[in-house]
Amino acid sequence: LIELHDVNKDYGELHVLQDIDLTVGKGEVVVVIGPSGSGKSTPCRTINRLETVQSGTILLDGQPLPGEGKALERLRADVGMVFQSFNLFAHETVLQNVSLGQIKVRGRRKEETDRHSRRLLDRVGLADQAPKFPAQLSGGQRPGVPPRPFRHWGSVAVARALAMEPKALPADEPTSALDPEMINEVLEVMRQLARDGMTMVVVTREMGFARSAANRVVFMPDGRIIEDRAPEEFFTDPHSERAKDFLSEIL
Ligand code: ATP
Ligand code: MG
Repeated sequence: LIELHDVNKDYGELHVLQDIDLTVGKGEVVVVIGPSGSGKSTPCRTINRLETVQSGTILLDGQPLPGEGKALERLRADVGMVFQSFNLFAHETVLQNVSLGQIKVRGRRKEETDRHSRRLLDRVGLADQAPKFPAQLSGGQRPGVPPRPFRHWGSVAVARALAMEPKALPADEPTSALDPEMINEVLEVMRQLARDGMTMVVVTREMGFARSAANRVVFMPDGRIIEDRAPEEFFTDPHSERAKDFLSEIL
């Protein structure tokens, strides 16, 4: 479904992606791991053209990615993305957050959109949160402290991406900004999606999720993929010294 062939990207001197070859089949869950700053986010961002690359080929369903206009908008709906910060619209309700893209990009009518959005909120366990605004989702606000993710934001962001009926769902550290008690909610929603056959590329530090939900683990220590294997093999018998060191530091 998603293919990166010999992809290279640099920011000036910094070669962030080096000869990346990565194929994600339909229904596959690929977890990307590696130290911070190693380029893990960049492949996710190239798939929906939030970033362009200097060389190499990226295909979705065998087709090159569109560069602009309506086709690009559709691409971003086809390859929904869940960001670390979730990027919810603060001045729209939970229901509207899930609905807006469907109306704008997919051209759905309002009643149909509402029905679909409510079904998705139900699926992620948030049926009763529909009329709230993101900042009203219970949890964690203290005066004088910079705004932080609230409870359920992750699940709302997942529902919003799903609302576009994406072909694939990249997620870039969807839990790393969350408090521990919120992490499980998002991971459980993503596990369920994986079981339902969603194609996913997930950058995460949650090794439990990698072990239990991934079909493959991709280890990227420095802009290159040096291991791309089944999780049970990777975690029990990493081939490279880099992976051994990485695992011994985090496990
Ligand atoms: P993190 O663990 O911090 O999320 P990462 O593994 O996801 O990092 P990337 O975000 O893909 O890594 O970035 C790889 C490198 O490219 C980093 O050193 C980062 O500082 C740099 N980088 C990312 N975006 C830009 C940009 N727009 N301009 C210049 N450098 C960038
Ligand atoms: Mg990142």
